[in-house]
Amino acid sequence: MVRAFKPADLTEALRLRKETACVPLAGGTDLMVKYRNWTGLPPAFPGDVLFLSHLKELQTLERRGETLRIGAGVPLADIAAWPETPAVLREAVRGIAAPAIRNVATLAGNVCNASPAGDGICALYALDARLELTSVDGTREVSILAFITGPGRTVLRRDELVTAVLVPRRAANIQVFRKVGTRKANALAKLSFAAVGEVKEGIVDAMALSFGAVGPTVVRSTETEKRMAGKTLAEVTALAPSIVEDYAALIVPIDDQRSTAAYRKTVALNLLKSFLEGLKEKVKGI
Ligand SMILES: Cc1cc2nc3c(=O)[nH]c(=O)nc-3n(C[C@H](O)[C@H](O)[C@H](O)COP(=O)(O)OP(=O)(O)OC[C@H]3O[C@@H](n4cnc5c(N)ncnc54)[C@H](O)[C@@H]3O)c2cc1C
Repeated sequence: MVRAFKPADLTEALRLRKETACVPLAGGTDLMVKYRNWTGLPPAFPGDVLFLSHLKELQTLERRGETLRIGAGVPLADIAAWPETPAVLREAVRGIAAPAIRNVATLAGNVCNASPAGDGICALYALDARLELTSVDGTREVSILAFITGPGRTVLRRDELVTAVLVPRRAANIQVFRKVGTRKANALAKLSFAAVGEVKEGIVDAMALSFGAVGPTVVRSTETEKRMAGKTLAEVTALAPSIVEDYAALIVPIDDQRSTAAYRKTVALNLLKSFLEGLKEKVKGI
């Protein structure tokens, strides 16, 4: 018999997390699909369920110095509407599912589900986001790159909850998110691409590029990004063929019900090429 816990506050939620083998449930939009059952029967959860979305401690959107703190229970719709949300994340969140899902689903749920096709995850990689993980013993922070270790796999301990997604506030006059799907709503990505960069006086100061649904985790290469830093826009555009070659070696997609490996790789590299060749038009404020 599965038990369902609705803790009064975060302290009680953390205690239950430590003492029971419960499944945390935020919006439930991944979990209800994962454990769906025959019509008329309740979902087939493998263990007790811990409801989180009502917890006030997880509901806040805050700017703390140079960090944006997105509470783990904040619905995607509120994140999309928050003026502080970086444009690349807003665009990614607005493309997730459809309004009804976005009213209950969370960014923390998107991250913990750890799908390589998670739209929020692709943007968060390019933003160098971190996860705030809390247990009764304390809080730690882990970068999203270290948090997700494979499809559906994370380093979250059995006694921990994600309490917030932390996004550094950085100057970024390039912010691009592109999702390729079968249709505009309620379609998981065949592949996605995010770019976050800063160009100062025509020189690339920083550039982060990430690709979703083209490997077991989101693909990002800080080595290749470093090749663009300190270059003029024209120099980066001239480097495009060699940068595309770098990513061609890293992007190793699979065939599945949504797309083929060949399509994913071709389109991901085409998006990158077009981004690098049109870099000047991507910079806001030039
Ligand atoms: C019709 C439909 C369309 C969809 N379209 C998209 C799409 O376009 N793009 C996309 O990326 N996703 C899509 N999804 C997937 C899903 O909506 C998102 O991944 C969503 O962000 C999940 O958030 P949630 O709060 O509902 O997670 P839940 O289902 O509640 O949880 C997901 C996972 O995270 C864990 N979890 C949740 N919160 C915490 C926490 N605070 N601490 C620890 N673990 C936690 C859960 O235990 C579970 O393993 C779609 C889903 C549906 C049903």
